[in-house]
Amino acid sequence: MSEFDLATFEKEAHERWARAFESNPSDREKFYLTVAFPYPSGAMHVGHGRTYIVPDVIARFWRMRGKQVLFPMAFHVTGAPVVGISKRIARNDPKTIHLYRDLYKVPQNVLAEFTEPLTIVKHFAAEYQRVMTSCGLSIDWRRRFITVDPTYSKFVEWQWKHLYEAGHVIKGAHPVRYCTVDENPVGDHDLLEGDKADVIKFTLVMFQHGDAFIPTATLRPETIHGVTNLWANPNVTYVRALIDGKLWIISKEAAEKLVLQDHIVEVKEEIEGIDLIDKTVTHPLCGTIPILPADFVDPDMATGLVMSVPAHAPFDYIALRDLQQQGKYTQIKPIPLIKVEGYGNVPAQDAVERAGIRHQMDSRMDSLTQEIYSAEFSKGKLFDKYGGQPVRVAREEVAQEMCEKYHSVVMFEFDTRPVICRCGNKVKVKILHDQWFLKYSDPTWKEQTRNHLNDMALVPPEVRAEFERTIGWLKDWACTRRVGLGTRFPWDPAQLIEPLSDSTIYMAYYTIAHRIREIDPKLLTPEVFDYIFLGRKSPNLPEKKKLDAMREEFLYWYPYDFRFSAKDLISNHLTFQIFHHVTIFEKDKLPKGMVVFGMGLLNGAKMSSSKGNVFLLEDAVSEFGADTVRMFLTGSAEPWQDFDWRNELVLSTKKQIERFYATVLEMRDAAGEPQDIDRWLISRLQEHILKMTAALENFQTRQALQEASFGIETDLKWYRRRLPDGCCGSREMSTLCSVWTRLLAPFIPFTAEHIWQELGNKDLISFAEWPVADENLVNTHIELAEELLARTVEDIESIQKLIQITPKSITIVLAPEWKHNIFKTIARSSDRNSVLKEIMKNEDMKKRGREATDAAKQCTTLIHRLPPHVVTPLAKESVNERAVFEAAQAVLEHEFGIPVHIANAETSAYTKGATALPFKPAIVIE
Ligand SMILES: [Zn+2]
Repeated sequence: MSEFDLATFEKEAHERWARAFESNPSDREKFYLTVAFPYPSGAMHVGHGRTYIVPDVIARFWRMRGKQVLFPMAFHVTGAPVVGISKRIARNDPKTIHLYRDLYKVPQNVLAEFTEPLTIVKHFAAEYQRVMTSCGLSIDWRRRFITVDPTYSKFVEWQWKHLYEAGHVIKGAHPVRYCTVDENPVGDHDLLEGDKADVIKFTLVMFQHGDAFIPTATLRPETIHGVTNLWANPNVTYVRALIDGKLWIISKEAAEKLVLQDHIVEVKEEIEGIDLIDKTVTHPLCGTIPILPADFVDPDMATGLVMSVPAHAPFDYIALRDLQQQGKYTQIKPIPLIKVEGYGNVPAQDAVERAGIRHQMDSRMDSLTQEIYSAEFSKGKLFDKYGGQPVRVAREEVAQEMCEKYHSVVMFEFDTRPVICRCGNKVKVKILHDQWFLKYSDPTWKEQTRNHLNDMALVPPEVRAEFERTIGWLKDWACTRRVGLGTRFPWDPAQLIEPLSDSTIYMAYYTIAHRIREIDPKLLTPEVFDYIFLGRKSPNLPEKKKLDAMREEFLYWYPYDFRFSAKDLISNHLTFQIFHHVTIFEKDKLPKGMVVFGMGLLNGAKMSSSKGNVFLLEDAVSEFGADTVRMFLTGSAEPWQDFDWRNELVLSTKKQIERFYATVLEMRDAAGEPQDIDRWLISRLQEHILKMTAALENFQTRQALQEASFGIETDLKWYRRRLPDGCCGSREMSTLCSVWTRLLAPFIPFTAEHIWQELGNKDLISFAEWPVADENLVNTHIELAEELLARTVEDIESIQKLIQITPKSITIVLAPEWKHNIFKTIARSSDRNSVLKEIMKNEDMKKRGREATDAAKQCTTLIHRLPPHVVTPLAKESVNERAVFEAAQAVLEHEFGIPVHIANAETSAYTKGATALPFKPAIVIE
């Protein structure tokens, strides 16, 4: 057998795997899994690696279980990001050049061509395929496509025809995230930062200041009665501007934003923030109040001026307190207006003092603000003099009153900031007119989606709530863009379908992707797809034979069994695809299940390409070997948990594979006659097979590896310790080597293929039969005997460590028969508290009195400590402990190098013998 060299194993396997994973409909049961396809605009890092390696392990597992497995891959190239990237490269933007040249290692001559967006995605799509292959992903590459292929666009057009006919595509005016540089709405994929930001509707409260209004944005207009002052930032330059013909004072940033929100804006002059301080404003609902200075006021948040309600807003309360502690504005007192259970008269003060917050910068301020906001909204009531309504009622009423009588208008703003476009520009809220939307707000559509979600298997189950939440809050989705790559929007060809909207049912397209290429895209009318996917016949269908073949593929593979993706896609893609499926496909073709991944960390910090905190997958594979990378990414955490890449841990994974390899190498030719200890090893192996199989059926890759790697390794260590000198095992070892290698094959396929060949197999292990546990080989009796022996050896070792003397002999003192009876009674009993009374009814026990009750207590404690797989059989029959130790006497004497005696507690002179219990003999070392 050759040396352990992962690079050699990889080379061998790649040659043998060429086209091996191309998968066609067959008589077997199918298993179809898909992963969210990548947007190839940069190099793959180890975080991406797990997203594709976990499904590959699952694909390999089911393939060995005898299913016909389909694992396809394609590349998502739609959208504006690459357009931005190519523009930045064209203008030699140093940050972008650094990222692509130095981090992603794009050769200079290729980089020069990146001024053309399609070149970028084509380059990285090829790179992705190369790196994915190097990781051993068992993908059917015939089905690969990119989302701007003309045939794919025809498929998308067909999909949209159905969405439109179902009434899900509408036109209207909506506030959307918008980039003024790209002149485009911005989706989650187009953002560098702020993908969790939501557009919120604020009411502008218009305070009169001389000839102008000073508007402040609020979510809580009802608190107008408690406003004590406004806050302005003395270091900010504001502007006087005509907004729809009226003079306003607002930040420069606000003036720019209002233009995007249907206002006519004409900036007149600048005004320094400092000049506003200590001036007054008035509002009919709160009277005349001063403007106070505050550095925390952000000119980029809404209008850049803020109204202050210190009784109910923790920020305002602290800011005012800070000023007053300097002796300023001491005449201002918080004005309470809402009564809420659990708080005193001034809730903001209560909350701040309870939390012990000292200053404005305390990180808990946001959650405190949220706490008061929620408490007052859900159970607060206005004071009687302000109308006495519940807050949730008053809020609407006051907002309406302000709009009707007091010049208030609406302004849209993000709930969290910053929101940054991939192009580097700050994203703003724009009201788009004549914009096309997918009407996710439609309650009927939501209901259909929810109904199907109920039928889907979700892993881990906790994500179900997040899907339900997403279906609930999803609003209408701007589904077209003016810039980027993609399919033309059928009802307005100047626009393109945006990236998240053209990739919701492509899992169905995979089933035909390699065949549809043979047909001229011009022939691909909606009727063609109606036939392939819905079985609707129509006259004059072209290329009928080819269509029939495609229909057959679709019917065989669809629906997909599991879709895999990172959890950040729940709030968009993963939920969108359910919406689209329920509209387009028949009930028996709807998605069956999803597995949602945790995130990747690098040395404890979140991986992020834009921040440079990544380890490239290709570098990892060449440094540690593909099998090491695979085993680490699937074994260090369950798929839905976050994992943390640390080179030193990856290195120890490599050593583990090397140990496995070396062990198989040593044992495969063992030819001894099987002994009890061989029967023990094989019995344990059955259990590992069962547990590992169950774990993989549940996508628990970490649990599975624990069984197959550490579990078997630990058994083998004990097995070898139990062998006589010079013996390297029995001929059962060849069975174990074969089973062990197959169990690990989905995780470390390269090493496994190599060993498989060395073990004399001609076929690929990738298609070998998955080991099946044989009940007849399970021998509880032998397992218990070994467990007793192993535990006793452990006890002896720990006593040896404690005592100071050089030991001359060891005596193992065995518990008497009557203690075995007590043990069994307790182990069998369902109520371990009342069992003592039952034991003491026995005449023999009564005679023993205290001795018996003590033994019962000790047995109870011992039973609690022993694992169930030991207690359950011991409840039925005792182990013949004398026989076990007599058989192992020679081994023990060899192990410890001194004589070992076996004694009975009742006949031996050792007082320590009184502590002997079943399965835990007393040990005397002299
Ligand atoms: Zn932009």
